Amino acid sequence: MPSAPPRRRPTVLAALAAAGALVLATGACASSTDGAATAPEAIVTSFYPIQFATQQITAGAVPVSVLTKPGAEPHDLELSPQDIAGMTKARLVVYADGFQPAVDEAVGLVDPAKVLDVADAAKLVPATEGDHGGEPAGSGGSGGSAGHDGHDHAGDDPHFWLDPSRYAAVAEAIGARLAKDDPTHAKTYARNTAVFVEKLSQLDDELRVGLSQCRIKQLVTSHAAFGYLADRYGFRQQGITGVSPDNEPSAAALRTVADLVKSSGVTTIYQETLVEPQFADTVAGSTGAKVATLDPIEGITSASVGRDYFEVMRSNLVALRAGQGCS
Ligand SMILES: [Zn+2]
Repeated sequence: MPSAPPRRRPTVLAALAAAGALVLATGACASSTDGAATAPEAIVTSFYPIQFATQQITAGAVPVSVLTKPGAEPHDLELSPQDIAGMTKARLVVYADGFQPAVDEAVGLVDPAKVLDVADAAKLVPATEGDHGGEPAGSGGSGGSAGHDGHDHAGDDPHFWLDPSRYAAVAEAIGARLAKDDPTHAKTYARNTAVFVEKLSQLDDELRVGLSQCRIKQLVTSHAAFGYLADRYGFRQQGITGVSPDNEPSAAALRTVADLVKSSGVTTIYQETLVEPQFADTVAGSTGAKVATLDPIEGITSASVGRDYFEVMRSNLVALRAGQGCS
């Protein structure tokens, strides 16, 4: 992989220098829905589902930026100094404690009066055994996150948005906070929140009906993002790599998953869009199962099976109905 031709660098740097003031002013808010002039007053969100909910509720009235750029895997996000500067200048920072260590840490630099942690609204629960990758039960598994300084939600499963009812509770918390901070627009926020929550309720109904008669109850996913979805719609989840995709499974762990695939009649292993499919491919290869995509919606890219949360969730429903033998 050769590096970029040397002649390009000065051009890029010159362009950056020419745009210097603008870059400094807007660098942390590259995905604002709105003009650069309002960037310091932006709402900064930590990753896609929180960004999407906030955008649905503000409906363009306030710029909403996101720290996890599209296509980046959010669990191991790193923040630039500009990102952190943007957080300290934001009118509000919305994040979920216990998901992204870099964000948890940077939030400590932000005025607590300008922070909303949605982890409590999501009613997060600890990741269960099947969320820790293929370690045998009782092995004390290494699947959990390394954890920074013992945050309240460090051992919890962060993937609340894959259960529409938990996502709705988070949206309501965001809507209530926006209304409190900006009473002039409280009615608009309340109305937009209600519309969004209603859409989530419709999605929940579709998932419940579509997944009510499935032959295969065991889900085998790339990383263990689907615990809340599994709980809500009657599946058991086994993640190949644990709650974070950064934990590499051991050969023994992969064998444990392969044994589970065979013993529970699993025909489809799910890979995702932001993580290399090597482990899903390995398990599929050793068991004869197929590989399909089940998107944990940790970011939307051109590879996503839909343009937003709702479209991707409906694609996930189609994938689950085929992969789990639902009628
Ligand atoms: Zn995840």
